[in-house]
Amino acid sequence: MKIRLASKNIQLDSIVDGEGIRAVIWTQGCPHNCFGCHNPSTHSFNDGYLVDTIELKNEIDQFTGQDGITFSGGDPMSQPKECLEIAKYAKEKGLNIWCYTGFDYEKLLNNPIQREFLNYIDVLVDGKFKMEERTLDAPFRGSRNQRIIDVRRSLTEGNVVVLDKYNKVNNMTNRSSHDEENLFI
Ligand code: SF4
Repeated sequence: MKIRLASKNIQLDSIVDGEGIRAVIWTQGCPHNCFGCHNPSTHSFNDGYLVDTIELKNEIDQFTGQDGITFSGGDPMSQPKECLEIAKYAKEKGLNIWCYTGFDYEKLLNNPIQREFLNYIDVLVDGKFKMEERTLDAPFRGSRNQRIIDVRRSLTEGNVVVLDKYNKVNNMTNRSSHDEENLFI
């Protein structure tokens, strides 16, 4: 299966795209067109690189010192089948999964493939980037409207459960690179 990526290879050792030391998969293609997005080069569904998911699995096999994988972009939820395949493999390897999306969690529940992908995600950062809600003081998100969601608990309890420790706006400056700058390598 081929996945369209903004960066050919998985970026290693990120400390701004979720908890711990993370490997980031930068997907290509996003339908949201958020005003102020700093990754506009990831919006087109025709650009980037078509990469076989086998190649990504081979990269995962070579990981050392990565706590988990973060799907970012672009919007990974625009390629849920492809991301699901990678997430399943990563889970088998004991990695935790974070995912950034411009869609709202509730909307994802209505799409069978996106819903299946959610089953393998530990933490979802959802919602569009809103310039008027932009914050420099919240970890792992670019604007206050975005929620850092405990997906397991949310699915079990049937309500959105946010991770309080990250949803409080505080003095941390540990930012997400999803909204703020292009870190492609
Ligand atoms: S901020 Fe994220 S969801 Fe919004 S346009 Fe940019 S890549 Fe897409």
